[in-house]
Amino acid sequence: MDVSSLLDGLNDKQREAVGAPLSNMLVLAGAGSGKTRVLTHRIAWLMQVEQQSPYSILAVTFTNKAAAEMRERVEKVVGTNMGRMWIGTFHGLAHRLLRTHYQDANLPQSFQIIDSDDQLRLLKRILKSLNLDEKQYPPRQAQGYINGKKDQGLRPKHIDAGGFPIEQNLLNIYKVYQESCDRAGLVDFAEILLRAHELWLNKPHLLAHYQERFRHILVDEFQDTNAIQYAWIRVLAGNTANVMIVGDDDQSIYGWRGAQIENLHRFLKDFSGATTIRLEQNYRSTANILNASNAVIANNPDRLGKELWTEDKDGEPISVYCAFNEMDEAKFIVGRISDWHEKGGSLSECAILYRSNAQSRVLEEAFLHKGLAYRIYGGLRFFERQEIKDAMGYMRLINNQNDDAAFERVVNTPARGIGDRTLDIIRSTARQHELTLWQACVSLIEEKVLAGRAANAINGFMELIIAMRTDTADMLLYRMADDVIDRSGLRTMYEAEKGEKAQARIENLNELVTAARSFEMPEELEDMGELNAFLSHAALEAGEGQADAFTDAVQLMTLHSAKGLEFPMVFMAGVEEGLFPSKMALDEGDRLDEERRLCYVGMTRAMQKLYISYAESRRIYGREDYASPSRFINEIPEKFVEQIRIRAQVKPSVSQRFPAKATVATKKPHGFNDTGHKVGSKVKHFKFGEGVVTSFEGSGEKGRVQVEFVDFGSKWLLVSLAKLERC
Ligand code: ATP
Ligand code: MG
Repeated sequence: MDVSSLLDGLNDKQREAVGAPLSNMLVLAGAGSGKTRVLTHRIAWLMQVEQQSPYSILAVTFTNKAAAEMRERVEKVVGTNMGRMWIGTFHGLAHRLLRTHYQDANLPQSFQIIDSDDQLRLLKRILKSLNLDEKQYPPRQAQGYINGKKDQGLRPKHIDAGGFPIEQNLLNIYKVYQESCDRAGLVDFAEILLRAHELWLNKPHLLAHYQERFRHILVDEFQDTNAIQYAWIRVLAGNTANVMIVGDDDQSIYGWRGAQIENLHRFLKDFSGATTIRLEQNYRSTANILNASNAVIANNPDRLGKELWTEDKDGEPISVYCAFNEMDEAKFIVGRISDWHEKGGSLSECAILYRSNAQSRVLEEAFLHKGLAYRIYGGLRFFERQEIKDAMGYMRLINNQNDDAAFERVVNTPARGIGDRTLDIIRSTARQHELTLWQACVSLIEEKVLAGRAANAINGFMELIIAMRTDTADMLLYRMADDVIDRSGLRTMYEAEKGEKAQARIENLNELVTAARSFEMPEELEDMGELNAFLSHAALEAGEGQADAFTDAVQLMTLHSAKGLEFPMVFMAGVEEGLFPSKMALDEGDRLDEERRLCYVGMTRAMQKLYISYAESRRIYGREDYASPSRFINEIPEKFVEQIRIRAQVKPSVSQRFPAKATVATKKPHGFNDTGHKVGSKVKHFKFGEGVVTSFEGSGEKGRVQVEFVDFGSKWLLVSLAKLERC
């Protein structure tokens, strides 16, 4: 490939970056301006023009998916397989290093990585062995402490607890935890980075080797690096490597996890002769989407300041949809995607982005109902999440004591002093006598094989299940779910854990109550009993529905995991005060800026069409909230917005299905009803019968009305075709 074709498809500024002389460089630019493209082309340039070996290049991306894409893009540009080149995430690359030099890293050859759940379990055992009360020292807090210290590059020996007993104990937990990981050859995520950094510091010959080797280091999404990642690159680069970093301060969204925007500034100070190149043309989005995003982010203080422009046409306005509730919102989104799909659009071109994982449940149900394939990206589906499985475990055991899987799951969750030894006796008795675990317990207690504390603990557990079974027998399903979450101790357990993740788990548990409340008994399952039917519904939902990697499917993901990606059609759902920005961010003032950056990230994922929706009332986390539209919506200048409809206030309940009085949305009313129909008026359709107009959109030929039919529910109809009669 010749030089000119390497620079094809790049603008002047991009070319300047791609073809710059070997040096340290910061490419600072807003979303969609081609930063990732520049990085990729730069790698190709280094090989093709500067004649550098792929062996001398180290490229760091933010996710494995991005790494795979970058490898693919480079291969396309240079036309050869880049199998041996080091492209990956910080964790992936550091891991590779540790595998290669396990002895220098003081690790056994067979060392294993533990994920965050394993880490937590290990910590629980350690707390017990140290006789520390989990209430006073929630394992998750200890986990946060340890990972936080590791992210800062700190070992126990570097930490001074300052004579504070709590700090002293946390430090001790860290120490014991680390010893036990080392004995067992286990490495957690933060440890991977820390050890890789220590490898540089403790083994100068290795550092020298890699410094000699990696003459070119390139890092994408630099605004989200943390202290140890920065240090790792800094040491590796030394004074010899050429480092190109690309980033956007407006897209820094991991401050809560220790990322430091200041690393962008630090780079300019620490890396000699570093120059800054700014890219200003956006190639991703229409002018409307781009200008609206620019207007939102302009509300943040202390920005490095970048202006983005596009040559693209205005495109469609941003459609803002005000839903009655979360179900209406889901229905709307799925409806739009279905229309798009029917017109030949592919599902994978559509993405739905949300602030909280708990929002996915209602959307998932709507997709299942419509029979459209969807995929949750970077997260577990609702019924597969740990805390939901815990709560459902109790419900399953209440429903059927012989459900062994449920028994295993919850017998000691939350911890109630049932040890592994006791469990082993129960398991082997069950095996020998072909009993279920529950039955085995009954017989072990009757025959006094289990005695003392073990018998008491098992007895207590069984009594709890029986009592819950009796007490909840006549309860409505959602009350039962609520009761079970409380009495099982799950809520208290997760509440004690503090932190973002624990908060999300509690939110999900509350959301389970909502799911139970909205559960409608399918007619064909009437004989089964509501609890049983609900459990099967959950089991089916967990196992089915999710499309595999090769099926064309709508992408559902949190705003965080959408970073760096782009889609022709994007829906941002649940854009309400208290949800986005989140309540937590509102309570802590300084986090509002990060939420706004997250909004900017979300909006700038859209290429052609952006929908933003919010619900006036939302059942989420087990509560019903009434919220106002997010301040971020109000920050979008009206000229870029199309309010999708002027709506009637339709409540979900049947009795209120036909409102006497229609109210008109007050915010940014757009267009006027020239469909000849009025919200609230009664109409008749030749096929669907009688109904009430609940909203409309568009005008003339394209005018559509939404009608709530008595027998057929809600339907959108083209006025020009529907031949509605007024009555
Ligand atoms: P983000 O900040 O969201 O990570 P980015 O700055 O990394 O965005 P890219 O993903 O590299 O942006 O580019 C955005 C889109 O614009 C991509 O589809 C890319 O192929 C396209 N693009 C970039 N530069 C050009 C160009 N000079 N001509 C045409 N298309 C371009
Ligand atoms: Mg990018």
